[in-house]
Amino acid sequence: MAGHEHWLHQIDAELDGELSLAERAALAKHLAACTHCSGARASQLEVRVALARSAGDPHAHVVPRPAIRPRTLTLWVMVAVIMGLAGGWVAYRQWGGPGGEPVEETRALIVVE
Ligand SMILES: [Zn+2]
Repeated sequence: MAGHEHWLHQIDAELDGELSLAERAALAKHLAACTHCSGARASQLEVRVALARSAGDPHAHVVPRPAIRPRTLTLWVMVAVIMGLAGGWVAYRQWGGPGGEPVEETRALIVVE
């Protein structure tokens, strides 16, 4: 069935309270016939429940946009920090890991001998 991307976008908008009644009716009609999209809607709702709960308002009707954005930002900052740590660890292993001598120094010793 074509057009799932469109409906997934509509689900997102609906859960943000951005759809008109006519758009919601069209979406409801599609969801009744499409298990793929109704499943996606259920998991979207679960994500929002989790977000609302972590924002301290488990009974929120919608997750306000500003509540989503800082969390998304926090996630990206965490990813950046983890990537930085992983990068540093790789560099450490490569150029003189725990107890190991740097490759260049080892080679220099061999040449001298
Ligand atoms: Zn669908």
